[in-house]
Amino acid sequence: MIWEGQELTITQLKLKLQTDDRSVREAVWKAIAERRLADRPALNALWEKFLPLRLQMGKNAGYDNFRDLRWKQFKRFDYTPDDCITFHNAIEKVVVPAATRIYERQRQKLGVDTLRPWDLDRDDVYPPSRPPLHPFETVEELVSKADAILHKVDPELGDYFSIMRKEGLLDLDNRKGKAPGGYQSSLVQSRRPFIFMNAVGTQDDVQTLLHEAGHAFHLFESIKLPYSQQWEYTSEIAEVASMSMELLAAPYLAASEGGYYTPQEAARAEIEHLEQNILFWPFMAVVDAFQHWVYSNPQDAASTDKCDAKWGELWARFIPGVDWSGLEDSRVTGWHRKLHIFQIPFYYVDYGLAQIGAMQVWRNSLQDKAKAIRDYRSALALGDTRPLPELFAAAGAKFSFDAGTLGELVALSEKRIHELEQVK
Ligand SMILES: [Zn+2]
Repeated sequence: MIWEGQELTITQLKLKLQTDDRSVREAVWKAIAERRLADRPALNALWEKFLPLRLQMGKNAGYDNFRDLRWKQFKRFDYTPDDCITFHNAIEKVVVPAATRIYERQRQKLGVDTLRPWDLDRDDVYPPSRPPLHPFETVEELVSKADAILHKVDPELGDYFSIMRKEGLLDLDNRKGKAPGGYQSSLVQSRRPFIFMNAVGTQDDVQTLLHEAGHAFHLFESIKLPYSQQWEYTSEIAEVASMSMELLAAPYLAASEGGYYTPQEAARAEIEHLEQNILFWPFMAVVDAFQHWVYSNPQDAASTDKCDAKWGELWARFIPGVDWSGLEDSRVTGWHRKLHIFQIPFYYVDYGLAQIGAMQVWRNSLQDKAKAIRDYRSALALGDTRPLPELFAAAGAKFSFDAGTLGELVALSEKRIHELEQVK
């Protein structure tokens, strides 16, 4: 699209949202929103085309409901669609109020009347890190400090990471012609993990590397099992491995512990991380609840107007802390901007469930770190040889979706945020 006479991609234009000048942010945000709305009819037409195809796929496979087919494809044997509804209700009850408090703090920090979408960053949900943290200059610095941090988490896990450094299993720098993104993949012949990412010097890069290191440790621990099927764990437990590592590493982000930051910067990175976790659940609930509605009410969902209305209703229910007045068309078409809904239906709740597990591992580590790490590693070593609730239990976590479990984790996060705010 054209911005100030220059042709820019939306990704390039989004960088201009990082300015402190609110009126510029508003103008940029509105320009992006307008460009996206130009695709509204095309995206609606696609939806009208593939929704009936999905319903037919479900029928062809012998299911009344496409959702039942997806449940089998994802090997979801340990929780039902009803459990997801319970999860949404628990989020509404105990997470939404905490998320609203985070938005309120953000509003006060900015000194504005209401928090508008251009005061936020990704997915119209997360407050940006401003001014941005600069944890490292070179990839060597990123890696050597991550190595020190991971050795502090656990010497043997740290040694796994050192093996990856030594054997050239890290491709972390951003360079011309390299595909975007970040992930861990498995080199099963050599029984080694591999991490790919595009580091440019941000806290996001640090968090991504720690996250992918958690996935890599999952492989190191489980690859000792004899059969390849035993390594094919599902995303719910895989993301417990990775998200836990982000949280377990947080106490060592300061330079005095081998990490990147001053004590104040380390506290800020941890606060923002805990806030992101809390804000993720309500957003996940919108995405997931929307899809449960679509495939339980396919006749209504065939109408894109009704999809818009449902998305708007869910957004108001789960994310009431942001003021979208006057931006109704953008607000109700948020489902167009969530690729999972279009490309990987029903894949998203996995992250929400994994976060319940990871935050319990973190809670355990605050009480008894040695035991928490031991349990975490023994859960990873089980690979896919046990049902999810048993894998969670091995990690010292309850596989449950209720307001009690979530409420405890939210309260603990808020308490920790409060402590970190005192770091001077
Ligand atoms: Zn992951």
